[in-house]
Amino acid sequence: MEDLDPFDIALAQLNKAAKVMKLDSATIDVLSSPKEILQVSIPVKMDNGETKVFTGFRVHYNNARGPMKGGIRYYIKENLSEVKALSAWMTWKTALLGLPFGGAKGGIICDTKKMSKNELEKLSRGYIDAVADFIGPEIDVPAPDVYTTPQIMGWMMDEYEKIVRHSAPGVITGKPLTLGGSLGRGDATAKGGMYVLREGAKYKGIDLTKAKYAIQGFGNAGQFAVKFVNEMFHGKVVAVSDSSGGIYKESGIDYKELLEHKEKAGTVENFPGSKNITNEELLESDVDVLIPSAIEDQLTGENASKIKAKIVLELANGPSTPEADEVFFKKDILLLPDFLSNAGGVTVSYFEWVQNITGDYWTEEDVYSRLDQKMTAATQDVLAVHEKYKTDPRTAAYIIAIQRVVDAMKARGLLN
Ligand code: GLU
Repeated sequence: MEDLDPFDIALAQLNKAAKVMKLDSATIDVLSSPKEILQVSIPVKMDNGETKVFTGFRVHYNNARGPMKGGIRYYIKENLSEVKALSAWMTWKTALLGLPFGGAKGGIICDTKKMSKNELEKLSRGYIDAVADFIGPEIDVPAPDVYTTPQIMGWMMDEYEKIVRHSAPGVITGKPLTLGGSLGRGDATAKGGMYVLREGAKYKGIDLTKAKYAIQGFGNAGQFAVKFVNEMFHGKVVAVSDSSGGIYKESGIDYKELLEHKEKAGTVENFPGSKNITNEELLESDVDVLIPSAIEDQLTGENASKIKAKIVLELANGPSTPEADEVFFKKDILLLPDFLSNAGGVTVSYFEWVQNITGDYWTEEDVYSRLDQKMTAATQDVLAVHEKYKTDPRTAAYIIAIQRVVDAMKARGLLN
């Protein structure tokens, strides 16, 4: 049985690349440890008058390349190992994209589906009160992630500004537009993923207009992936799922119709003209492109050999385990790894931060064209290293990212 501890997985991936790069053990040790970890307790007076204490985390992984950057997750199964892994992945993600940031991540153990808006606001403000000294536009810049929204970022920015007593929009990204959010940030993760997919498909010789797609997850990443596959490639999305279950429709799923259905029914299940399927069936369906856009550990040593897709575009963080990676590499399935494929979110977060700091706001066209340039360059870099070292694309991406972090640490005199 595979060990699925998220931070162990992150370290296994790092070590695999370190071997190819022949890194010395001191360098590996430095890259294997988060810089600092903060755990906080957040008391919230709930609507029923009782006080509930929530546990939150913020992990700073590495800041050799600049202020640390990474989202905050509100997730019932959140735990420190996961936040550590995610903060490491943010470090590699910002480095791979050439953004002047390090990596961080935060999380709160909570179930947003069982909380009122008022409770969520108190929790969000409470989290910022607890971590205020640990974040800042030049220190660590949070953003949305699983089950956190622009509204939550707005409350958080407001709370931070109340504490520091001056305007500081660059403290957090993914904000509502009216508070200095960037055009194009809302759908940036999926949009960026489409540019990566376009380059990956060129490399594999796959015609995306004729391809069939399965998309796991209908949150911020998955939902817009359905939309963009429809709009940009006119491809057929035959399978979609959310946390309650999945649907399959051979003739293709229309984004707007599915969104309307989900808004009414609260789930994608029972979508007219489709049949309900399980999560397993979705992953193993007969498609050309599989887009895991939900959570970790979905593609494992157990189900990887049953995957029929020719390309796996990881829009989620950590959806494949190292055993799954091996299987994909052997089967010549092109795995476009998470910290490349879903880097559109943090890339537009970077654009947002630049706009906040300079006070110069860009058009949506500008944002998308700069995003396209960055995602395309990073994908081409990864595919070139994948060819050069005859290694899987995740390891190739690690090689590029690690080298950039190591170079920055050496230039600071922190490594020999
Ligand atoms: N949560 C997103 C990620 O995992 C975005 C992070 C950010 O914008 O800082 O990349």
